[in-house]
Amino acid sequence: MTYRAPVTDITFALKHAAGFGPALAEGLYRDLDEDVVDAVLAEAGRFATEIIAPLNVVGDRQGARFKDGTVTTPDGWKQTYRDWAAAGWNGLSAPTQWGGQGLPQAVNSACIEMWNSASMAFGIGLILTMGAVEALAAHGSDRLKKAYLPKLVSGEWTGTMQLTEPQAGSDVGALRTKAERAGDGSYRLTGQKIFITYGEHDLTDNIIHFVLARLPDAPAGTRGMSLFLVPKFLPATDGSPGPRNDVRAHSIEHKMGIHGSPTCTMVFGDQGGATGYLIGEENRGMACMFTMMNQARLAVALQGVAIAERSTQQALAYARDRKQGRASGAREGSSSIIAHPDVRRMLLTMRAHTRAARTICYATAVAIDRAHLSADEGSRQAAQERASLLTPVAKAFATDIGIEVSSLGVQVHGGMGYIEETGAAQHYRDARIAAIYEGTNGIQAIDLVTRKLPFAEGATVRNHIADLRRTAETVRAANNPAFGATGARLGEAIDSLERTTAWLLGRPLDDASLAGATPYLRLFATATGGALLAEEALAAARVGSDSEARIAIARFFAEHLAPNSSGLEREVIEGAESVSDVALA
Ligand SMILES: Cc1cc2nc3c(=O)[nH]c(=O)nc-3n(C[C@H](O)[C@H](O)[C@H](O)COP(=O)(O)OP(=O)(O)OC[C@H]3O[C@@H](n4cnc5c(N)ncnc54)[C@H](O)[C@@H]3O)c2cc1C
Repeated sequence: MTYRAPVTDITFALKHAAGFGPALAEGLYRDLDEDVVDAVLAEAGRFATEIIAPLNVVGDRQGARFKDGTVTTPDGWKQTYRDWAAAGWNGLSAPTQWGGQGLPQAVNSACIEMWNSASMAFGIGLILTMGAVEALAAHGSDRLKKAYLPKLVSGEWTGTMQLTEPQAGSDVGALRTKAERAGDGSYRLTGQKIFITYGEHDLTDNIIHFVLARLPDAPAGTRGMSLFLVPKFLPATDGSPGPRNDVRAHSIEHKMGIHGSPTCTMVFGDQGGATGYLIGEENRGMACMFTMMNQARLAVALQGVAIAERSTQQALAYARDRKQGRASGAREGSSSIIAHPDVRRMLLTMRAHTRAARTICYATAVAIDRAHLSADEGSRQAAQERASLLTPVAKAFATDIGIEVSSLGVQVHGGMGYIEETGAAQHYRDARIAAIYEGTNGIQAIDLVTRKLPFAEGATVRNHIADLRRTAETVRAANNPAFGATGARLGEAIDSLERTTAWLLGRPLDDASLAGATPYLRLFATATGGALLAEEALAAARVGSDSEARIAIARFFAEHLAPNSSGLEREVIEGAESVSDVALA
């Protein structure tokens, strides 16, 4: 079973749960027409479904192949990439000045979900080029922008993001790649990077590496890192790829999943130093890299949603088809397994988690749009803080549920799920990486607790909680029996979030807050996802769009998944002491 882009659900979630509809109505996107958005999403859905999705299994079986410093992507990938870029998808939300279409991040996010449902290994390369465009547009000199942005925006060239070294993973500040001033304004880089996604490939004629390195006189740690643009081929005077730069792929990794995506060890400066150009200021590279990383974190979050959506579609189809046992109430013969309540519970968990994670990701994208486009500085600042608060939640929750949902997808298939032919196992293998790269989910939780909660002395998170509460109250006030106990269960989850937030904000940052960071993030996501699904259901009831099913999903989430909140609250507040090293001695 292959993937069919759920364009109606995506569009509905975007407009009615994530805040895109109100933003459009109030003119945030100026004269952007709703029909244009609908047409873009429909065409992206068609491209993802018909053209990219069939390549997913080829990518898994064939993988990227390395020989003599070159990487060959799986059959059909090169042509598909070129068709995708030629259709303008790479520059969908890139600045119009550089050839992009300037459409909202929110719309691009919906498309990123679809590219990655179709093939995560294909989609991760696209994400990195988009992040490179963002960082260069925000921090690059005019000369660099003119030379590189048009080709990165069109997708004629791709970008990489290079932080990791053997001794510098989560602790990026430990990196050792060296950059020395060449005296002509450029720099010479020497060192080694590992795990670099699409560091080498055959999709395009040139690859532009965005590399963190350290100057000889740089202070230690993250304050001493600078960001450099290092092209594989130095552009000739006419802009075409000229001489080869002193950077090469040494090897690629053999991985658990995303086999089609080449993960490269990169060597800089074998022959004296790779030519690099500074982006932003010396020693301020981390700030520039954060522009790229924030974009990439949301995109990786969308990979979690994407793989969850694809797994759910596949498991649903299998559950309708596979017959085993007789369901209660069935008179004769065997029943489709979807008729068994435990299988339905698995499928509903898959669907509810997928949709909750989708709304959180899209809401983050709308906050990013507001941070860029709101008319006044105060609104831009508030939106920026909301986007920053939601980004680690989106990244960690969506990628965690990507793994949980694809694992349930295997379970729904029974033994056939463990057999590679069905494809359920590929989703599970592919999903696993998203919780690790772009900052592990543990690091996201620590970021949420240590850096994001204290924003505006806690006002940003308190405003967020107040929004969630309004939704729970609206559900209660609607008095619609189809919602069951949704309002009450959401209210309890929000109470747990509020108490736990107050507990964290009221204490110094210590081992107890760090020990509780991951369950706190899950609690935050549960209350938020539950409320956004309820928003979606309320809107569906109002406008009469598939309202029975949307209310049922919001209700399932509130009654089956949100009750975990009280356990998560206890884990944070009462469980810190038992996160000791005694039992590990
Ligand atoms: C397929 C793949 C593609 C990748 N693509 C890229 C890429 O394109 N560019 C790039 O630069 N990197 C890339 N990476 C690297 C990736 O971002 C790192 O693997 C990731 O950031 C984790 O670093 P690490 O592997 O060194 O793990 P470590 O940092 O060693 O972490 C190990 C464990 O310890 C935990 N941990 C570490 N420090 C702390 C702490 N302070 N507090 C609490 N817990 C902690 C982590 O959460 C994790 O669970 C890729 C990796 C893979 C596998």
